[in-house]
Amino acid sequence: MRLCLSWDDGHPDDRRVAERMAAHGLRGTFFVPLRNVEGRPVMAMSELRALNAAGFEIGAHGVDHRRLHMLPAAEMQRQLAEGRARLEDMLGQPVLGLCYPGGRHNAAIRAAAAATGYRYGRTTEMLRLDCGQDPFRLPTSLQLHPHGLLPLLRNWLRQGGGLSRLLRLAQVWRAGSLPLAVNSLGAEATRQDGVLHLWGHSWEIGEQAGGWPQLEEIFASLAALVPPETRKTCRELVK
Ligand SMILES: [Zn+2]
Repeated sequence: MRLCLSWDDGHPDDRRVAERMAAHGLRGTFFVPLRNVEGRPVMAMSELRALNAAGFEIGAHGVDHRRLHMLPAAEMQRQLAEGRARLEDMLGQPVLGLCYPGGRHNAAIRAAAAATGYRYGRTTEMLRLDCGQDPFRLPTSLQLHPHGLLPLLRNWLRQGGGLSRLLRLAQVWRAGSLPLAVNSLGAEATRQDGVLHLWGHSWEIGEQAGGWPQLEEIFASLAALVPPETRKTCRELVK
């Protein structure tokens, strides 16, 4: 099986996530807008360069985190192109990954992303233990957030339903806690030789009581579950 962790929004707390991931030998991708219209801070370029130098992939997340499907075509394209070009200038290397702000995408956005030079687009589809067929609809397994049943059902329905994802939803819900849900999905991904792709927002970890100790517990169990060579960035998943 393969393990991937990805983090959205470029919040300064990503530094703490990255430091703990590195301590456990975990790898992954940080998707970063240049600024955030929602008012949350975004890491400075020197901090992004440090994450990149530590072996983490940096991917784009739009210019300012606007939902792309709400924008006129020219502005949507600018968000994709400028969000990528500015990161490339600052990092001095190609940026091939995109995460759709708010998880919102459609055929026109996916086509524009491919035309802009991205190689993949990560979605917010959960309850999957595979990479799918389309690199511009890269799914995930679970958000590292203690969702109630309703958001899970909404994600299941909005992303096309399906029996296997419904069974996985039941599996996550039955687990009763985020660490146990991760363990359960990890065991199934191992049995299937599938992909366990966990994603999150570092700013949400800080907002939950006990969020950081719980994340530490999850990182420790992931490090025990999968050998180092199976730990991937998003880019390596879609290769
Ligand atoms: Zn975001």
